[in-house]
Amino acid sequence: MSSHEHPLGISFEFFPPSTDAGRDKLIHVRDELAARKPRFFSVTYGAGGSTQARTREVVRAVGESGINTAPHLSCIGSEKAQLRDLLAQYREEGVESLVALRGDMPSGMGSIGELRYANELVEFIRAETGDHFDIAVAAYPESHPQAPNLDKDVENFARKMKAGANMAITQYFFTADAYFNFVDKARALGVEQPIIPGIMPITNYTKLARFSDACGAEIPRWIRKQLESYGDDSEAITAFGTDVVSRLCQRLLEGGAPGLHFYTLNQAAPVLRIVDNLAG
Ligand code: FAD
Repeated sequence: MSSHEHPLGISFEFFPPSTDAGRDKLIHVRDELAARKPRFFSVTYGAGGSTQARTREVVRAVGESGINTAPHLSCIGSEKAQLRDLLAQYREEGVESLVALRGDMPSGMGSIGELRYANELVEFIRAETGDHFDIAVAAYPESHPQAPNLDKDVENFARKMKAGANMAITQYFFTADAYFNFVDKARALGVEQPIIPGIMPITNYTKLARFSDACGAEIPRWIRKQLESYGDDSEAITAFGTDVVSRLCQRLLEGGAPGLHFYTLNQAAPVLRIVDNLAG
């Protein structure tokens, strides 16, 4: 770890805004978060190429902060030639890290493409660009929604780590033991690289519930019940959510998590409340 880095090894994820106002706001958020000296920023990518151009643009803008900025890159629905071009462009633009994903097929979109799973994408990036990029991949402590069971999913996860990934970032979760259990299973299969927990701040119950259903992240009943009881009281939701997620982070770090990756949803305040709780 560099001496200029936050001692907890934090990193922050953004999505490409669709409006000029959103882009302007993101620059402020970037600056607020850059001041906390993260290891890296990352910028998500829409499967099927819908936001590829926007991801590149935002990677450039966010990277002007001087913080290493990693584009997310998904392979489903893409041909090798397109991915080759994109890798060449990122290389030319000075990008050094990538988050490599399969992605999800947008409904009604055409063919799956030439690479079906993230392990094939990692192999492809290594074959095309050697060790140029640091590659992170996705991990699912509560199992990927399409996997038949957790053990099978961890086997698939180990395959993509062995294909040449440098680290993994997890889907968010609210149960620390799900993370520790996943890490134990991965280590038993010979995975040695860091597995960084992905952390989702809680600020809006309805959105969180919808998103969690879609991505297979469980909101424990006691958290759901408490959040439901607050109705529209966003101050109460934020206070409770900050406390729950700060305690989760604390447990993860005490249990040996090698850093924390925050899903910012392009907002600085919710993650900074948590980071400041941990620092204090
Ligand atoms: P894979 O690792 O390929 O796994 C997908 C499924 O296939 C799993 O069920 C797995 O068990 C199974 N599997 C894997 N390999 C094999 C194999 N060789 N043979 C048989 N089965 C296999 N989505 C976006 O569109 N854009 C983003 O920017 C984005 N960023 C993300 C960042 C993080 C940190 C995370 C956790 C997720 C992100 N996603 C993003 C979501 C992700 O694209 C979806 O979860 C997608 O469904 C799976 O992608 P993956 O790379 O994990 O796939």
